[in-house]
Amino acid sequence: MVVGKARETDLGRITTVLFDLDGTLLDVDVEAFFPAYFDAVAARVSRYIGPDQFIPRLMRSTTVMIDNLDPSVTNAEAFAAAFFDGLDVGPEVLMPVFEAFYREEFPKLQRYAKPVEGAREVVQSVIDSGRRAVIATSPVFPEVAIRERLRWAGLEDLPFALVTTYENMHFCKPHPQYYEEIVSHLGCQASECLMVGNDVEEDLSAQDVGIVTYLVEPNIIHRGKRPCTPDHRGPLADLPLLLDGARHRAAG
Ligand SMILES: [Mg+2]
Repeated sequence: MVVGKARETDLGRITTVLFDLDGTLLDVDVEAFFPAYFDAVAARVSRYIGPDQFIPRLMRSTTVMIDNLDPSVTNAEAFAAAFFDGLDVGPEVLMPVFEAFYREEFPKLQRYAKPVEGAREVVQSVIDSGRRAVIATSPVFPEVAIRERLRWAGLEDLPFALVTTYENMHFCKPHPQYYEEIVSHLGCQASECLMVGNDVEEDLSAQDVGIVTYLVEPNIIHRGKRPCTPDHRGPLADLPLLLDGARHRAAG
């Protein structure tokens, strides 16, 4: 064992690669996307609740969902409980309206997003190497919306071991419980997993449960709340070579 090689050989054990979506595999014009998304969904529900009441309620309920750490409550349930609390209109009326929105209107927001160049090849190469690929995107959207965003990224047909959504998860980034839940769902060790993402706070918190991290350059988001200490960093395109090199070194 050569001292100093530990950081290379930790990748030799990787069986599972967790990918963030926005800013990592999907290039989203966030400044344009979110206002357009809020306007479109507000317009869709305006018969039942005006935008002045709807938007703050949506934001507040999203924060409650992100902060929820009750393991018996899914993100979808945490969101709905907060959203419908004290509202005159019930979920039996509004949920079908939201569902229709995601089916019919949400796909039009594709104009604010495009695949990250080479992203599909990187994910494909991880799968071809016999490793599992996971979409570890912040699970604040319904599955229908996350599947649609995978389509925008050109990844919808790839065999992911897990795609985190607001229906199947009980926690959100940056809480370590989110990463614990992924590891538990996959039935593996945290140290076999590599989290690949561009957000220091949201993606590097995977380190807190023992997941190895790869910070994707150049679109790094660093709000300063967490020190920027990834295990590895570099362009997305360098990932397959790094993983293959580590496997060969580990085998040798
Ligand atoms: Mg991101």
